[in-house]
Amino acid sequence: MMARSHVVLGLAAWVWAAPHLGLPPLETVSLALATCGALLPDIDHPQSWVGRRLRLISRPLAAMIGHRGLSHSLLAVVGCCVLLRSEGVSRALIAPVIVGYLSHLGADLLTPSGLRLTWPLSRRYAIPLCKTGSPAESVVVAGLVIWVGVAMLRARGIFVL
Ligand SMILES: [Zn+2]
Repeated sequence: MMARSHVVLGLAAWVWAAPHLGLPPLETVSLALATCGALLPDIDHPQSWVGRRLRLISRPLAAMIGHRGLSHSLLAVVGCCVLLRSEGVSRALIAPVIVGYLSHLGADLLTPSGLRLTWPLSRRYAIPLCKTGSPAESVVVAGLVIWVGVAMLRARGIFVL
């Protein structure tokens, strides 16, 4: 998916997940961290938004492992958690990064290319609902955001549909 889609879905995922984790959903720092987490997996693609800004990392990573490899795996999620915890980063700062990161993996799962969740194993997982950059991507993103919004309103006892 495109960077803008990852940002929207990362923010929606965080706003939905934060109360379940006992954390405030609308703090600026948390929203920024969720956005970073939502963009970070594409560091393995030199033409991605984050890849263009971190070329010193993205080019060798893309050359060695390829796009949607390690950085798009569950191993990367665990690695991020372990790395951040080992550095003494608080749960309140780690959670939005991880939620954003997981939203990215979930979004890429919806494209025909799918992703190698169990990297280094070669199996690809995909639920091909839309191609990256297609009009269908916008429809899927809008549908997911509406679904999160309705779920949040229902959780607060507000009747919707
Ligand atoms: Zn990606």
